[in-house]
Amino acid sequence: MSDMTFTLTDEQRALKTAVYELCKQYPPEYWRDLDAKREYPEAFVTELTKAGYLAALIPPEYGGAGLGMMEAAIILEEINHSGGNAAACHAQMYIMGTVLRHGSEAQKTLYLPKIATGELRLQAFGVTEPNSGSDTTKLQTTAIKKGDRYVVNGQKMFISRVLQSDLMLLLARTTPVDQVRKKTDGLSVFLIDIRGLKGLEVRPLRMMMNHSTNALFFDNAEVPAESLVGQEGKGFAYILDGMNAERILVASDSLGDGRWFIEKAVAYAGQRVIFGKPIGANQGVQFPIAKAHMAIEAADLMRTKAAKLFDAGLPSGPEANMAKYLAAEAAWDAANACIDAHGGYGFAEEYDVERKFREARLYKTAPINNNLVMAYVGEHVLGMPRSY
Ligand SMILES: Cc1cc2nc3c(=O)[nH]c(=O)nc-3n(C[C@H](O)[C@H](O)[C@H](O)COP(=O)(O)OP(=O)(O)OC[C@H]3O[C@@H](n4cnc5c(N)ncnc54)[C@H](O)[C@@H]3O)c2cc1C
Repeated sequence: MSDMTFTLTDEQRALKTAVYELCKQYPPEYWRDLDAKREYPEAFVTELTKAGYLAALIPPEYGGAGLGMMEAAIILEEINHSGGNAAACHAQMYIMGTVLRHGSEAQKTLYLPKIATGELRLQAFGVTEPNSGSDTTKLQTTAIKKGDRYVVNGQKMFISRVLQSDLMLLLARTTPVDQVRKKTDGLSVFLIDIRGLKGLEVRPLRMMMNHSTNALFFDNAEVPAESLVGQEGKGFAYILDGMNAERILVASDSLGDGRWFIEKAVAYAGQRVIFGKPIGANQGVQFPIAKAHMAIEAADLMRTKAAKLFDAGLPSGPEANMAKYLAAEAAWDAANACIDAHGGYGFAEEYDVERKFREARLYKTAPINNNLVMAYVGEHVLGMPRSY
């Protein structure tokens, strides 16, 4: 087994510092302004791509850095730790694995080098639907093969970064559910080029935070048959296969948020003087911050364990799920401790606490709800009866 210690290597520490320093060039005003306008951080994502960070998981033979999950996790954590929002680009990292593991050589050669340089963006992942939600196998979008094309019909809900991406990974049903042995069969993954795709309507949704999220309507949208990733009907397994990476990376987003909240809360609690002393001297202010810090540190251990197991090619499902849950909850506790410590100023936009508060809340709900993580742990880790 490779390195299972919890300290970072010199290279990882250097990466952490370099990412943090790059991110710090994008000040709070940058993110605040984009948040108010609900605009995509084009300049930030372009710079991050040019620096090679978004191609961390792409192997060198396709133009990427060929780094591991631990490095990808560090990159996302530091974006959020700096006060930015990794949501603008994290999906590219977690959907990359599906293409790498199951994509054809032609797909990889065609797309990966261009994704690595930033010529193409793959940041859209189309799974959720209005009528299926967490129950993915009930999705109703269909892709029916007609000659050398698949014809896609249906709706997707809450699909992020579609207008900022050139490519989307799409999950659709290729065989009706009543014609398959198991409901998980008959779903297929497509890597589709969405630039000017006829029959795809994108309706932006204004969400609680700046997330470039949309409702999608496919009306006889035709995609080339070569867009299919791997084997037809096996898509659910391919998506599940990528879930551990997704959980580890989203946990890292949350850890970065959590660290930002703790630093911000500690700084404010130390300098705000009320009743003649810094508010941080009061246990009512200090203890929630200390408690959240401990939870962040514990979640970090679980995230790091999950990433190292993943990088060693060992099973990491329980650890990846637990890391996602623990980090999202810890970040939310840190968000509440931080907003409480700031009193009324926590609600003022110029302090950024309310923006990060909104951003951190998402990860208790998406990309997977923490209830479903508990159901996974209850059923698959502890062997209790299935609830759904
Ligand atoms: C800002 C944002 C961006 C998103 N981006 C994307 C994206 O890019 N691509 C994409 O595919 N999706 C995206 N999503 C969708 C997200 O993944 C879903 O919202 C999430 O998976 C939950 O699905 P749902 O909203 O339909 O909730 P539902 O599945 O309807 O669940 C509603 C509530 O019921 C609970 N619940 C349901 N079943 C059970 C059960 N058996 N046991 C216990 N509790 C249960 C859930 O935990 C939740 O609290 C995004 C969502 C948001 C908010």
